[in-house]
Amino acid sequence: MISDSLKSVIRDIKDFPKPGIIFKDVTPIFKDPDLCSKVVDAFADRLKHLQIDAVAGIESRGFLFGLMLANRLGVPFIPVRKPGKLPFSIVKKSYELEYGSATIEIHTDAFEPGCRVLIHDDLLATGGTAAATAELVTELKGVVAGFAFVINLEFLNGRDRLGSFSSDIITLTD
Ligand code: IMP
Repeated sequence: MISDSLKSVIRDIKDFPKPGIIFKDVTPIFKDPDLCSKVVDAFADRLKHLQIDAVAGIESRGFLFGLMLANRLGVPFIPVRKPGKLPFSIVKKSYELEYGSATIEIHTDAFEPGCRVLIHDDLLATGGTAAATAELVTELKGVVAGFAFVINLEFLNGRDRLGSFSSDIITLTD
Protein backbone atom coordinates (compact mmCIF):
# COMPACT_ATOMS: atom_id res chain seq x y z
CA MET A 1 0.00 0.00 0.00
CA ILE A 2 1.28 3.43 -0.95
CA SER A 3 0.09 4.93 2.35
CA ASP A 4 2.19 2.45 4.36
CA SER A 5 5.27 3.06 2.19
CA LEU A 6 4.90 6.81 2.61
CA LYS A 7 4.27 6.65 6.35
CA SER A 8 7.38 4.52 6.79
CA VAL A 9 9.67 7.21 5.32
CA ILE A 10 7.99 10.54 6.25
CA ARG A 11 9.71 11.83 9.39
CA ASP A 12 8.31 13.83 12.30
CA ILE A 13 10.73 16.62 13.21
CA LYS A 14 10.02 18.10 16.64
CA ASP A 15 10.20 21.88 17.20
CA PHE A 16 10.71 22.76 13.53
CA PRO A 17 10.56 25.49 12.27
CA LYS A 18 9.73 26.73 15.79
CA PRO A 19 9.15 25.29 19.26
CA GLY A 20 5.91 23.34 19.69
CA ILE A 21 5.54 22.37 16.02
CA ILE A 22 5.95 18.80 14.78
CA PHE A 23 6.99 19.11 11.14
CA LYS A 24 6.34 16.34 8.62
CA ASP A 25 9.55 15.96 6.61
CA VAL A 26 8.85 14.57 3.13
CA THR A 27 12.42 14.77 1.82
CA PRO A 28 13.13 11.01 2.33
CA ILE A 29 10.50 10.25 -0.33
CA PHE A 30 12.71 11.91 -2.94
CA LYS A 31 15.62 9.62 -2.12
CA ASP A 32 13.61 6.68 -3.44
CA PRO A 33 12.93 6.87 -7.20
CA ASP A 34 10.67 3.81 -7.09
CA LEU A 35 8.50 5.36 -4.37
CA CYS A 36 8.36 8.66 -6.33
CA SER A 37 7.03 6.74 -9.35
CA LYS A 38 4.47 5.01 -7.15
CA VAL A 39 3.30 8.37 -5.77
CA VAL A 40 2.75 9.72 -9.28
CA ASP A 41 1.04 6.46 -10.32
CA ALA A 42 -1.26 6.65 -7.29
CA PHE A 43 -2.21 10.26 -8.01
CA ALA A 44 -2.81 9.51 -11.71
CA ASP A 45 -4.95 6.49 -10.84
CA ARG A 46 -7.09 8.32 -8.29
CA LEU A 47 -7.54 11.29 -10.63
CA LYS A 48 -8.49 9.34 -13.70
CA HIS A 49 -12.21 10.10 -13.37
CA LEU A 50 -11.47 13.84 -13.47
CA GLN A 51 -10.85 15.93 -16.55
CA ILE A 52 -7.68 17.88 -15.75
CA ASP A 53 -6.32 20.50 -18.14
CA ALA A 54 -3.46 21.78 -15.94
CA VAL A 55 -1.74 21.12 -12.58
CA ALA A 56 -1.03 24.07 -10.27
CA GLY A 57 1.77 23.28 -7.79
CA ILE A 58 2.28 25.39 -4.67
CA GLU A 59 5.80 26.64 -3.83
CA SER A 60 7.97 24.96 -3.02
CA ARG A 61 7.34 21.30 -2.22
CA GLY A 62 4.25 21.34 -4.44
CA PHE A 63 6.57 21.84 -7.41
CA LEU A 64 8.19 18.44 -6.99
CA PHE A 65 5.36 15.99 -7.60
CA GLY A 66 3.32 18.72 -9.30
CA LEU A 67 5.58 18.85 -12.35
CA MET A 68 5.97 15.06 -12.43
CA LEU A 69 2.20 14.63 -12.32
CA ALA A 70 1.58 17.29 -14.99
CA ASN A 71 4.08 15.49 -17.23
CA ARG A 72 2.42 12.14 -16.57
CA LEU A 73 -1.01 13.59 -17.41
CA GLY A 74 0.39 15.43 -20.45
CA VAL A 75 -0.89 18.82 -19.27
CA PRO A 76 0.78 22.18 -18.42
CA PHE A 77 2.28 22.86 -14.99
CA ILE A 78 1.45 26.17 -13.27
CA PRO A 79 3.77 27.43 -10.51
CA VAL A 80 1.95 29.11 -7.59
CA ARG A 81 4.63 31.24 -5.97
CA LYS A 82 5.50 33.32 -2.94
CA PRO A 83 5.52 37.11 -3.44
CA GLY A 84 7.96 38.75 -5.84
CA LYS A 85 9.13 35.59 -7.62
CA LEU A 86 7.03 35.58 -10.79
CA PRO A 87 8.36 37.93 -13.50
CA PHE A 88 5.21 38.52 -15.62
CA SER A 89 1.92 40.19 -14.56
CA ILE A 90 0.31 38.43 -11.60
CA VAL A 91 -2.79 38.12 -9.45
CA LYS A 92 -2.21 37.62 -5.74
CA LYS A 93 -4.08 36.48 -2.67
CA SER A 94 -3.24 37.00 0.99
CA TYR A 95 -4.55 34.65 3.65
CA GLU A 96 -4.29 34.20 7.40
CA LEU A 97 -1.90 31.79 9.07
CA GLU A 98 -2.00 30.75 12.73
CA TYR A 99 0.47 33.56 13.40
CA GLY A 100 0.48 36.32 10.77
CA SER A 101 -0.39 36.06 7.10
CA ALA A 102 1.00 34.84 3.78
CA THR A 103 0.57 35.76 0.12
CA ILE A 104 0.68 33.66 -3.05
CA GLU A 105 0.79 34.72 -6.69
CA ILE A 106 -0.02 33.26 -10.15
CA HIS A 107 0.74 34.65 -13.61
CA THR A 108 -2.35 36.19 -15.22
CA ASP A 109 -1.73 34.14 -18.40
CA ALA A 110 -1.14 30.87 -16.54
CA PHE A 111 -4.21 29.28 -18.17
CA GLU A 112 -7.22 30.13 -20.34
CA PRO A 113 -10.72 30.78 -18.91
CA GLY A 114 -12.57 27.51 -18.37
CA CYS A 115 -9.35 25.54 -17.80
CA ARG A 116 -9.86 22.70 -15.30
CA VAL A 117 -7.02 23.07 -12.80
CA LEU A 118 -5.86 20.45 -10.31
CA ILE A 119 -4.28 22.09 -7.23
CA HIS A 120 -1.38 20.15 -5.71
CA ASP A 121 0.77 20.58 -2.60
CA ASP A 122 2.81 18.18 -0.49
CA LEU A 123 0.71 18.58 2.64
CA LEU A 124 -2.82 19.66 3.61
CA ALA A 125 -2.95 21.27 7.06
CA THR A 126 -5.66 23.93 7.67
CA GLY A 127 -6.31 24.25 3.93
CA GLY A 128 -5.63 27.99 3.92
CA THR A 129 -2.90 27.84 1.25
CA ALA A 130 -4.86 25.57 -1.07
CA ALA A 131 -8.05 27.61 -0.57
CA ALA A 132 -6.19 30.83 -1.47
CA THR A 133 -4.89 29.07 -4.60
CA ALA A 134 -8.42 27.96 -5.46
CA GLU A 135 -9.59 31.57 -5.12
CA LEU A 136 -6.89 32.73 -7.54
CA VAL A 137 -7.83 29.99 -10.03
CA THR A 138 -11.46 31.11 -9.77
CA GLU A 139 -10.50 34.79 -10.10
CA LEU A 140 -8.73 33.94 -13.40
CA LYS A 141 -11.93 32.20 -14.51
CA GLY A 142 -10.52 28.70 -14.20
CA VAL A 143 -12.37 25.73 -12.71
CA VAL A 144 -10.98 23.91 -9.67
CA ALA A 145 -11.04 20.31 -10.92
CA GLY A 146 -9.79 18.94 -7.59
CA PHE A 147 -6.98 18.86 -5.05
CA ALA A 148 -4.15 16.36 -4.59
CA PHE A 149 -1.90 16.16 -1.52
CA VAL A 150 0.62 13.58 -0.40
CA ILE A 151 -0.22 14.04 3.31
CA ASN A 152 -3.34 15.18 5.15
CA LEU A 153 -3.06 16.37 8.76
CA GLU A 154 -6.60 15.18 9.41
CA PHE A 155 -6.99 16.79 12.84
CA LEU A 156 -6.80 20.26 11.23
CA ASN A 157 -9.88 19.60 9.07
CA GLY A 158 -8.43 21.08 5.87
CA ARG A 159 -10.91 19.09 3.79
CA ASP A 160 -13.78 21.15 5.24
CA ARG A 161 -12.12 24.35 4.07
CA LEU A 162 -11.76 23.09 0.49
CA GLY A 163 -15.12 21.39 0.01
CA SER A 164 -16.78 24.50 -1.44
CA PHE A 165 -14.27 24.53 -4.34
CA SER A 166 -14.30 20.81 -5.19
CA SER A 167 -15.36 17.58 -3.51
CA ASP A 168 -12.44 15.77 -5.17
CA ILE A 169 -9.73 15.98 -2.53
CA ILE A 170 -7.15 13.22 -2.94
CA THR A 171 -4.61 12.44 -0.23
CA LEU A 172 -2.27 9.46 -0.16
CA THR A 173 -1.70 8.89 3.56
CA ASP A 174 -5.29 8.38 4.72
P1 IMP B 1 -2.18 25.02 5.35
O1 IMP B 1 -2.28 26.25 4.52
O2 IMP B 1 -2.45 25.28 6.80
O3 IMP B 1 -3.00 23.87 4.81
O4 IMP B 1 -0.65 24.55 5.34
C1 IMP B 1 -0.13 23.85 4.24
C2 IMP B 1 1.11 24.49 3.74
O5 IMP B 1 2.08 24.57 4.77
C3 IMP B 1 1.71 23.68 2.61
O6 IMP B 1 2.31 24.53 1.65
C4 IMP B 1 2.76 22.83 3.31
O7 IMP B 1 3.88 22.61 2.49
C5 IMP B 1 3.13 23.65 4.55
N1 IMP B 1 3.24 22.83 5.76
C6 IMP B 1 2.54 22.97 6.90
N2 IMP B 1 2.91 22.07 7.82
C7 IMP B 1 3.84 21.31 7.22
C8 IMP B 1 4.60 20.15 7.64
O8 IMP B 1 4.48 19.63 8.77
N3 IMP B 1 5.45 19.63 6.72
C9 IMP B 1 5.59 20.13 5.48
N4 IMP B 1 4.90 21.21 5.06
C10 IMP B 1 4.05 21.79 5.92
